[in-house]
Formats: sequence, structure tokens, C-alpha cells
Amino acid sequence: GSPLLVADDLTKTFGVTTALDNASIQVHAGEVLALMGPSGSGKSTLLHCLAGIVAPDSGRVTYAGQDVSAMSDVRRSALRRTEFGFVFQFGQLVPELTCLENVALPLRLTGVGRREAHRRATDLLTRLEVADVARKRPGQASGGQGQRVAVARALVTDPKVVFADEPTGALDSLNGERVMQLLVTAARETGTAVVLVTHEARVAAYSDREAVVRDGRVRDPEYAR
Ligand code: ADP
Ligand code: ADP
Repeated sequence: GSPLLVADDLTKTFGVTTALDNASIQVHAGEVLALMGPSGSGKSTLLHCLAGIVAPDSGRVTYAGQDVSAMSDVRRSALRRTEFGFVFQFGQLVPELTCLENVALPLRLTGVGRREAHRRATDLLTRLEVADVARKRPGQASGGQGQRVAVARALVTDPKVVFADEPTGALDSLNGERVMQLLVTAARETGTAVVLVTHEARVAAYSDREAVVRDGRVRDPEYAR
């Protein structure tokens, strides 16, 4: 089928640094795509451009046929809230909220009522086997538990794409495998696409496809031009 998310010839510079140099990639629904490559090669910048967080200097990002670069800021942030989920290396949960409230937050931000948001957050925490930390603050959970809570927060809105930047980078291998299994299961069961940045081959092994980013360019065996 046609790709869900497309980056075409993206360039991005930060001062004298070229982070992206005509990078192109396509993401299909339900696939787990690993962006690999050395530190500083442009992986995070590509992820941020795909997610509509960073604006490329030139080139285009298209989501479901819509030109993301041409959207107003308001539309783009609505797109991020409703269609995308995010997991970062250090969970980045809100420390003042309980784990349950953290997971419910993306739903609350899209207008879902408190009771319904908490019900869905509780269901997901249970499925991810971290229901026991629901009432705790992130600081009281272990690193592995916290990252599973972060995955729950990313999945709670049933996003079409989950962006994960080194999601296992701060975890031991057992917890890293659990997090990857949760993301792969989401892709298999709900058709969520997962775009993953990692430099670990062991983590990339969970993906359906690996694209190597080097000097701001993408080597994608299937799609790069
Ligand atoms: P990777 O994720 O592969 O480590 P990044 O996309 O984070 O690579 O960075 C690519 C290059 O762009 C690096 O040289 C990095 O220092 C630089 N860079 C990324 N973001 C910024 C920024 N906000 N300001 C300045 N330089 C940046
Ligand atoms: P990673 O290694 O996972 O890419 P970084 O530490 O390079 O993470 O980047 C983390 C954040 O800091 C990103 O949002 C990136 O855009 C920004 N960043 C990276 N390099 C620089 C830089 N040289 N100056 C300012 N911001 C940067």
C-alpha cells in the first residue's frame, strides 16, 4: 500500500552543522522501522522532522497525504496529539503526577473526560504489567517500570505512529527487551507504525526494517533514492 509517512529530501542545518542532507524515507502502517547509525549522524533530527517537532529547512514531510510542513502550528500540534505517540530515552514522565495520571494525560489533552481517561489508562497499565505503580509517582518506580509507563502513555491514544528515540537506552537488556516487545506488539495488533532510533543492533533486531543514517543521509535499501 502507499506509505503513511514520507520524508522527501529533507535538509536541516544548525549553524554550521548539517544535521540532514537530502534525507528521504518512507514509513508504512504497522511496520517497525529502526533508524540506525553513528552518534551525530542525524537520526534524532530525522525523527523530530518526521514527527513535526522540528521544521526542515527544505524538503517535505507528508502524513496520510497531508503536507505537514505546510500546516499551521495549531494543526500540526493537533496532529501530534491525536495521531502520534512519543517515547524517549528517559521516559520524561511528569514527576508531579502519578503514573496513572501521566498515562491519562494525552487523553485529557484531547478532551477525554477524567473518568474515561483513567479507565483506559488503568487498562493499559494492567496489560503492560505495571498496574502496581499506577498510584505512585514516576520517581518511586524502577527504570524499567517507568519506561513501560512511558510506553503506555505513548499508546493510550491509539496513535497511528509511535516515535521512539533510544527507548531502551537507559535500561538493562531484560527491560529493554520488554519495552521492544510492547512496541512490536502494538505494531502487530493495532497496525501502529513504530519509528525507532537506536544504535544497538540487539534493539534493531526487533524491527521489520533498518535504515542507516550517515552524515545526514539515509541508506534505506528499499526506498532511498
Ligand atoms: P543523532 O541522533 O544521530 O545522534 P542528531 O540528529 O541528534 O544525531 O544530531 C545531528 C547533528 O546535528 C549533530 O552534529 C548535532 O550536534 C547537531 N544538532 C542536533 N540538534 C541540534 C540543535 N538543536 N542545535 C545545534 N545542533 C544540533
Ligand atoms: P541523541 O544523542 O539521542 O540524538 P542529543 O543529546 O544529541 O540526543 O540531543 C538531545 C536534544 O538536544 C535533541 O532535541 C537535539 O535536537 C538537541 N541537540 C543536539 N545537539 C545539540 C547541540 N549541539 N546544541 C543544541 N541542541 C542540541
